[in-house]
Amino acid sequence: MIAHFDIDAFYANVEIRDNPDLRGKPVAVAGSSRRAVVLTASYEARPFGVKSAVPLWRALEACPDLVVVKPNMQKYREVSHQIFAIFERRGHPVQGLSMDEAFVDFGDCTLDAGRELAQTIRGEIFEECRLTVSAGVASGMMVAKILSDSCKPDGLESLAPGREAEFLAPLPVGRLWGVGPKTQTRLQERGITTIGDVAALSDERVRAIFGSWGMELRDLARGIDRRNVEPERETKSISTEETFEYDVCDEKQLRELLREQALELAQKLEKEGLSACTIGIKIKRADFQIIVRQTNLAEPTMDAQQIFVSAVHCLQRAELGRSPVRLLGTRVASLVAGEPKQQTLFAGSLQ
Ligand SMILES: [Mg+2]
Repeated sequence: MIAHFDIDAFYANVEIRDNPDLRGKPVAVAGSSRRAVVLTASYEARPFGVKSAVPLWRALEACPDLVVVKPNMQKYREVSHQIFAIFERRGHPVQGLSMDEAFVDFGDCTLDAGRELAQTIRGEIFEECRLTVSAGVASGMMVAKILSDSCKPDGLESLAPGREAEFLAPLPVGRLWGVGPKTQTRLQERGITTIGDVAALSDERVRAIFGSWGMELRDLARGIDRRNVEPERETKSISTEETFEYDVCDEKQLRELLREQALELAQKLEKEGLSACTIGIKIKRADFQIIVRQTNLAEPTMDAQQIFVSAVHCLQRAELGRSPVRLLGTRVASLVAGEPKQQTLFAGSLQ
């Protein structure tokens, strides 16, 4: 489950929060030069057509009562740090898109658990920063972002896995990632107006229209979104690996080693007082090809059994077949301080 969070009217709402006189009024944050444009407008200003990138003179013409506030970037940066600390609090991978917008990878969890977690984070941001944030929860990044955009302000919207294609089909093709206004016009000339139209294209047509990029775009249109949430900061991690004297082809033997590595990593985590949200494995095959697989957990763990089960899951996803393996390693990352709330006590008795 992936969540997309976006603070509502970020600059404007920070200013309104800090100056209650502005509440309920049309507010625009903008510079003071003659060529200034609106950076952010409050929701009260938007019915007048006052929004980001509109020239300030035009905004004032459309909405004479508009209260214009000068931006205070230093303050917005500080609030942004506070918000990102909340996103990162539980150790999930976080990818920021701007000061007030981020994807958070909730890992393998149910839709209900994802919604609940998003709701908790929304609550924390309101409690600690006095700002409202809208969130979308879905199986992929693009759908999560479309959902959070569509439920603004102060909304939470989610989509059950498996319903992506059906949800996307009626939306205008411009909502697809990578399709800008120019491409949209070009596509409309060919009768392609909705995302569903792209989803229905044949291999041949999709290649003819979009080139090499086409198959990926059609997958996105069909709700298949393979991109991962990529944190920009190097996540601290702990890993262990072993190179074999002889190539190993036996999966049982590989599992055996993963079990030992899980125990070792669980002990290290416990010693450091850390829990991990990301479990990954690294495999070097006898032909020197390196395969990495990782999985994100909904709750951080320092439990050996859970690390082992996740590592085996990664091993299965590596689809090795009978190819000989030269090296196997396990890695835990997205580390957070402290023990998880409900720790299962499986360590030392791995099945
Ligand atoms: Mg925003």
